[in-house]
Amino acid sequence: MAATARKAITSFEGIAARAVRTVGCAYRGIAREAADVVVIGAGVVGIAVARELASKGREVLVVEAASTFGTGTSSRNSEVIHAGIYYPSTSLKANLCLRGKELLYKYCSDREIAHKKVGKLIVATSEGEIPKLERLLKCGNNNGVDDLRIMDGFQAMQIEPELQCVKALLSPSSGIIDSHSLMLSLVGEAESDRTTFSYNTTVIGGHVEDDFLHLHIYDSDSLHNVTINAELLPQFVLSTRLVINSAGLSAIPLAKRFPVMNKEISCYYARGCYFTLTKTKVPPFSHLIYPIPEDGGLGVHVTLDLNDLVKFGPDVEWIDGVDDLSCFSDR
Ligand SMILES: Cc1cc2nc3c(=O)[nH]c(=O)nc-3n(C[C@H](O)[C@H](O)[C@H](O)COP(=O)(O)OP(=O)(O)OC[C@H]3O[C@@H](n4cnc5c(N)ncnc54)[C@H](O)[C@@H]3O)c2cc1C
Repeated sequence: MAATARKAITSFEGIAARAVRTVGCAYRGIAREAADVVVIGAGVVGIAVARELASKGREVLVVEAASTFGTGTSSRNSEVIHAGIYYPSTSLKANLCLRGKELLYKYCSDREIAHKKVGKLIVATSEGEIPKLERLLKCGNNNGVDDLRIMDGFQAMQIEPELQCVKALLSPSSGIIDSHSLMLSLVGEAESDRTTFSYNTTVIGGHVEDDFLHLHIYDSDSLHNVTINAELLPQFVLSTRLVINSAGLSAIPLAKRFPVMNKEISCYYARGCYFTLTKTKVPPFSHLIYPIPEDGGLGVHVTLDLNDLVKFGPDVEWIDGVDDLSCFSDR
């Protein structure tokens, strides 16, 4: 574990003393420390949670398996600020997406983080898709997205001449963001509020004892030398009362490595590719263009980034697990 992290956590001497006394016998002789709050994973979710907790006075330690923040899904996405159209109205996603959109635009404006409200068109390319477009309009309205507008094909093609569609749903409040700058800003603010980031630090599991969660920690580089199926004892035990599991794709498998967690939760993985449009100086579109959503995703869409790069994707392929590379063979 990085020296800075050790320094931060040894300030919780009182908690450490109690925690160390109670850690199970199996881990006797292994170095232990305590922390007020531990956030697992420095993707955009972990960083944002850490910043918020730190701003409320909590002493936060973020443990991240990779060598820096934001190397997982948070840097491999469409960088779209979503309007909140698709989600079922009573869902947390619908609620949080709308509130998050407002907060995100304000956060970016206040700190001059690059972003642009470019708007988005969801398109019906055949008469048969029009009822689906109308259902999306209804769902968006129910969620409180109040600026949506159905356009006839010719109107949509007036604002996007390269497009072909029979009808479109315009979402003016959808936008794009420089996600790396967002994360950099959140990390900086979390650190100003005394959050410590410990990189190359993997949580391999944990156990619960005497009201503490004892996280089992392993140095990420050393993990590469570990034989698969070898019994792995932690190099370090980190004890805390509050853990945020924001480990992204690993969040569920990691939770299952805590004996008290529900082992029945399933995870389903899909993998997709983006395809970059090259050899064009001027992007052919000025809005984000999305098809009617498909099973497992929003459909292969056109995204623009803030440097006018045009990407198509992602496609969706269901896979057995995160290590399944088979679907890349024909790309
Ligand atoms: C193709 C695609 C496109 C998307 N497009 C958009 C979009 O346009 N707009 C939008 O809002 N959202 C989009 N999303 C969703 C968004 O990207 C994710 O919701 C978000 O990035 C998830 O962030 P996270 O912090 O939960 O996960 P991650 O960014 O994956 O971070 C998890 C972190 O945990 C670390 N970690 C994992 N296991 C451990 C461990 N055992 N110990 C320590 N650290 C660990 C990882 O190294 C990683 O850094 C998209 C998602 C995908 C897949």
